Amino acid sequence: MKNLPFTKDQVETWVKEIPTPFYVYDEQGIADTAKDLQQAFAWNPGFREYFAVKATPTPAVLRLLESLGCGADCASIAEIELARCSGITGKRIMFSSNETSAAEYRSAYAAGAIINLDDLTQIENMEEALGCIPDTICVRYNPGQFGTSNEIIGHLYDSKFGMTHDQLIEAISVLRDKGVKKFGIHAMLSSCSLNEDYYPSLAKELFTLAQEIRTATGVCLSFIDLSGGIGIPYKPEEKKVDIIRVGAQVKEVYDNIFTDDALRPSLRTELGRFMTGPHGYLVTRVIGKKHIYKEYIGVDATASCLMRPALYGAYHHITAVGKEKEEPTGIFDVVGSLCENNDKFAIDRPLPSLEKGDVLVIHDAGAHGHSMGYTYNGKLRPAEYMMKPDGSLQMIRRSQSLDDYFATLDCDETFTQVWRNHD
Ligand SMILES: *Cc1c(COP(=O)(O)O)cnc(C)c1O
Repeated sequence: MKNLPFTKDQVETWVKEIPTPFYVYDEQGIADTAKDLQQAFAWNPGFREYFAVKATPTPAVLRLLESLGCGADCASIAEIELARCSGITGKRIMFSSNETSAAEYRSAYAAGAIINLDDLTQIENMEEALGCIPDTICVRYNPGQFGTSNEIIGHLYDSKFGMTHDQLIEAISVLRDKGVKKFGIHAMLSSCSLNEDYYPSLAKELFTLAQEIRTATGVCLSFIDLSGGIGIPYKPEEKKVDIIRVGAQVKEVYDNIFTDDALRPSLRTELGRFMTGPHGYLVTRVIGKKHIYKEYIGVDATASCLMRPALYGAYHHITAVGKEKEEPTGIFDVVGSLCENNDKFAIDRPLPSLEKGDVLVIHDAGAHGHSMGYTYNGKLRPAEYMMKPDGSLQMIRRSQSLDDYFATLDCDETFTQVWRNHD
């Protein structure tokens, strides 16, 4: 069983006023997670979390994290602007993109962001775009192979990100000769890892590399970025990563490798999912029940609101509000209305007996949920609400309207007139 941070009565009040589907984020939950992370790395002077904006690109969330000391990890001009306008500026923005356009380099540089270079060839592209070389640069590493002491996370030969060991050393030499003063290194070698050994193993890999860089180039790194990738327990039987323990284990690796006081780089993280994932919920309503060869529960949300199950078969827990304690009465597919058979929030899920109008809460939708949304089949994007610590809801993004949907069309007079006179 997975608990909700709000009661049945609260949800019932909300759905009287607010059309489903909609998203709710738990402000207290996000703040508590941010504080836990900071406590876990408080031993490292200069530690900062650069929240991966793509997880939840909503200013209310960014402002909340900014107020708690976080920076932002961005990968597009829109994400840079979202961060900047939410009060996250200058070197508190990390620009980690790949196949970066000249316009994106210019936007990142103008914002004063730290550019995280994905490839050796990007040095030339960046210099061409900017007409100069920034004084601080991060370079992204892909070791090709990576394993933790518990498990092999996988080989990274197929991963498009980052540079090889030798390319990374070369990039740092070239950039040093071009006048870069401060360097960092970055690697993201896993995604949604619940293995508490992931960060410590990654830290060992990067800290060792830092020493090799020093030997090969004379460059002492200013910072090391452990990036994102820490998972969350989507399934009720999975266990939450103990971030305090992870921080202590990274400290052990750090103290073993950086014995020289002169070389004690600050650490960064770029967690997205871990920060907001568990604190977002998609609220939807049962609008139909169908029995053919299987049992279906139809809801008013579709994969266009939350794509993860359709995209990679991801599990999202579902609570039937007010029926939490009821025994399952059958096995159901919970489906949306898209003309795509992968539009299913759950497949073969045991659920209690549901009726039209019942409210379902889909858990762990706070990261890569609304942000991955789209408008296929003309489905409009849902609203987002922040639940304040006093339990009240604040709208932080309204739902999309048909006017919004039509706004980018080249509509002729006739279309516009017919549309305007519609009601
Ligand atoms: C997606 C991404 C992250 C965040 O990943 P999570 O799995 O949400 O923690 C961090 N850094 C970079 C460069 C990313 O692309």
